[in-house]
Amino acid sequence: MSAEDGIDPDVPPSGTDCVECDAEGLWWLHLRRCAECGHVGCCDDSLAKHATAHFRQTGHRVIQSFEPGETWMFDYVTNDFVDGPPLAAPTHHPLSQTTPGPAERVPADWQSQLG
Ligand SMILES: [Zn+2]
Ligand SMILES: [Zn+2]
Repeated sequence: MSAEDGIDPDVPPSGTDCVECDAEGLWWLHLRRCAECGHVGCCDDSLAKHATAHFRQTGHRVIQSFEPGETWMFDYVTNDFVDGPPLAAPTHHPLSQTTPGPAERVPADWQSQLG
């Protein structure tokens, strides 16, 4: 695949936190990485759903899980999983980073907030 397909394997991730949650002081459950520009955003089970918001804003259609041990890619346009080349490292957040995260902003009642 190529960048035209929503994947640029040479672009590193924006960081190891959700870009917008950091800006807004929010917390997330899982992280997803844009396979085209490297934007790291939070998943649809998080309150803010910034990864999907990034797709809506940019049209960047493919995400990869940014969770340790997960390598799946998902295409928002076809609404299906896709195979792609290995992306530039790091391909997941540090093992020391909590799920949900970041630890200092996760409320004690986080499970009921997501429920
Ligand atoms: Zn977020
Ligand atoms: Zn992107």
